Amino acid sequence: MKKIIGTLRAVLGGPAVFLFLLSVRIALAGLDKYSELVVADSPEAKRRPEAVRVTYLGVNGYQFEANGRALLVDPYFTRAGLTAVALQQRIEPNEARIAFGLQHIRPSADAVLVTHAHFDHLLDVPEIMRRTNARLVSGATAVNLTMSCGLPRTDCLIVQPGSIRVIGPWRIRAFPAAHDRILGWVPFRGTKTQSGTCPEKASDWRLGEPMA
Ligand SMILES: [Zn+2]
Repeated sequence: MKKIIGTLRAVLGGPAVFLFLLSVRIALAGLDKYSELVVADSPEAKRRPEAVRVTYLGVNGYQFEANGRALLVDPYFTRAGLTAVALQQRIEPNEARIAFGLQHIRPSADAVLVTHAHFDHLLDVPEIMRRTNARLVSGATAVNLTMSCGLPRTDCLIVQPGSIRVIGPWRIRAFPAAHDRILGWVPFRGTKTQSGTCPEKASDWRLGEPMA
């Protein structure tokens, strides 16, 4: 994430201001002890449209805004239950939760950047692309899974580590990354080399090609 922010700083020039939004929900979500990490917009920042504004969306989700444009990273609102994941039950995007989440961010986005293709990063992305007209920027596995859920290839850009893409005002650089291990194990490894049917179980959302 630091590298992404660094890239944005380079694109927009000057001492960009990075701001996390203060959400009243934090107080209700048992996150009081983290309140010192949250900074609200200052009146000065509101007078600077070129400033980059960062909104944390939960899990690994972020919205970046500048000059009235938006970029999304790993937006995931559904919160699939642990039981369904562990027991390999069907999981699917929760449209009500997605609609609620999108109410709090810009109605359209230039792109959705997805760091890898696990369900907690990609499950909601096809629906969010439909609702925000955003293009997907990610590895081949995430693109193939997204196409499997009905999105056209023309709405997807496959990137590899080192790739640089310019979309609207954004200059996006992909960096190599490694997935965290959970008890020494990376879950749902594997790639998807072509599109097929839309995934049903958590394990259908294969890791793919992690990038940052
Ligand atoms: Zn993951």
